Amino acid sequence: MALSNQNRQEACFQLMNQTFDVLVIGGGLTGASICLDASTRGMNVALIEQHDFAIEASGQFNTLLLNQSYSKSKFWKQAYKEQSIIKRQYSPLTQTVDMVNVEYDRDIEPNKMVKIKEQMIDPLKSSRYEKHEKPLTKKSSHKREPFLSLNRVKHLSLHQDSWIDQSLMTLNTLKKAGQFNADVMNYLKAVQFIYHDKKVIGVEVEDQITGELFHIKAHYVINATGSSSESVRKLDRYDQEPVRPLPMRKMIQLVVRKESIPINQPITIHYPLTQQRVTLIPYGQYVWIKTSERTYQSHPLENELSDEEFYRLAHVLARAFVKHTLEKENFIDIHTANIIDYNLIENQTDQWYQSNSGLISTFGVPLPFYRLHAGEVVDMLTKRYKKEKGILYSTSDYRTLTIMEQTKLHLNDIQSLLMADDELTEFMFQDLSKRYGDQLFKLISYYKKAALYMEKYPMEDQWLAAEVLYAIEREAVYKPLDFLARRKRYPLYAHRSIENDLDQILAVMRDKLAWTKEECSYYNRECRLWMDAHQVTDA
Ligand SMILES: Cc1cc2nc3c(=O)[nH]c(=O)nc-3n(C[C@H](O)[C@H](O)[C@H](O)COP(=O)(O)OP(=O)(O)OC[C@H]3O[C@@H](n4cnc5c(N)ncnc54)[C@H](O)[C@@H]3O)c2cc1C
Repeated sequence: MALSNQNRQEACFQLMNQTFDVLVIGGGLTGASICLDASTRGMNVALIEQHDFAIEASGQFNTLLLNQSYSKSKFWKQAYKEQSIIKRQYSPLTQTVDMVNVEYDRDIEPNKMVKIKEQMIDPLKSSRYEKHEKPLTKKSSHKREPFLSLNRVKHLSLHQDSWIDQSLMTLNTLKKAGQFNADVMNYLKAVQFIYHDKKVIGVEVEDQITGELFHIKAHYVINATGSSSESVRKLDRYDQEPVRPLPMRKMIQLVVRKESIPINQPITIHYPLTQQRVTLIPYGQYVWIKTSERTYQSHPLENELSDEEFYRLAHVLARAFVKHTLEKENFIDIHTANIIDYNLIENQTDQWYQSNSGLISTFGVPLPFYRLHAGEVVDMLTKRYKKEKGILYSTSDYRTLTIMEQTKLHLNDIQSLLMADDELTEFMFQDLSKRYGDQLFKLISYYKKAALYMEKYPMEDQWLAAEVLYAIEREAVYKPLDFLARRKRYPLYAHRSIENDLDQILAVMRDKLAWTKEECSYYNRECRLWMDAHQVTDA
């Protein structure tokens, strides 16, 4: 089924009128990859999402593929192998970056007693990129990064990482699953489970557009709702088992202006005193700061950044950068997500939990492991299903699939497809090719359609109108805010003409989605509040 909100009624009808092999709740990367894996094996799969796709943890800005520290060499090996598979599968979305690694010596300060025991099991010890690193001298490092403190540096090196636009990765995975006949639909919220003989046989969903309730039936139901996993699991009334807690890490991502931490290239700091690893990525006038913290089982999984976590991070940055400290007022944006701590996992079968009623709950894993994680969950399902029903499913095609191809076009080719007075700069062409890959052809057809809208609504930017039309018809976007967050990304922080763009986007969406005046002003207000919160307009 195409990822579109054009045929909603018909699509809901299809969902109600069959029993699926697998129903996945959650349209983030975990759900999308399970949905794709199961559908490539010939299973009849449905996926539901309560908002626009990839709008929570998987909707964050570019994610680094190797931005974790694994204490076991087998995880490093797997991560490198998966990195190259992901780069091949989503080539337009990935970008290679050279990272400077700095490891500081263990400078024990008398007033900050570090337990010897903790030092001995320091996870950073084995977090090196091993043979993938190239040593760097202090002199060349100073040339690259004059503000980096080289006092008591133990180890300096360079390694390559790749970053990927995770929200587009998720969307394209869902689109691919659609090509394998998965039924993928958003604005459907799972509100309770339905049972037969105390076993989960489906989900009651609430249509977030019409408010209607209906049932979707399936042999297996998978809860892939990220940070909502626990609350969705609580809807399962026959799940009385105490939760077997999984070791989790909390990913933290902050955005600050470059003046706060003036760096020239991506840097990873390993700091043994607080056992932290902090990655800084410069991007235009901004710097992304990423780190992760162990979350302890006795604590509920918090999505906020605690004061303690902030001070630990600020301490590392103050130690690493001459005369530069991080203050809370410097943040432009902050996001957190809880993911499984691979350092504390022995084998991968620990990554999900199945309740007595058969509901399977899965949690996010570090990005390079998504495909493997999906494969393991679906392997487990096929084994059971085969035994119960005597059906033989084929093996997964996920590994060999190209999910998104690089566009083969050059600027001149595109220009020849457009009208003579439609100008496309090299920069715009590169930008669109990166975000749309081989779908650029499709976008061009929307560019032509957009001309009609321009007649009706005098907009300035025809490409923007084309992107909105594409998002509505091919990515089932309902909200302008979600469109902006997914498609505009970084430039949002720097966007001076956002007010203007927003009016255009609202105009197209109002027309295509038949919004009422009230809905329009509601979304307008929501977008403006969000932009204020992210300091978009004063950049
Ligand atoms: C800021 C940030 C930076 C990160 N950086 C890295 C990194 O560098 N490297 C790395 O490996 N990982 C990183 N991660 C982690 C990675 O992004 C997450 O592990 C991953 O996105 C989790 O995906 P998910 O599908 O499990 O969860 P989500 O993306 O949160 O998806 C869950 C979905 O379920 C939906 N849902 C919830 N309840 C319901 C319901 N009742 N009915 C229907 N749908 C429902 C939600 O709307 C949501 O879309 C980062 C995360 C964040 C937030």
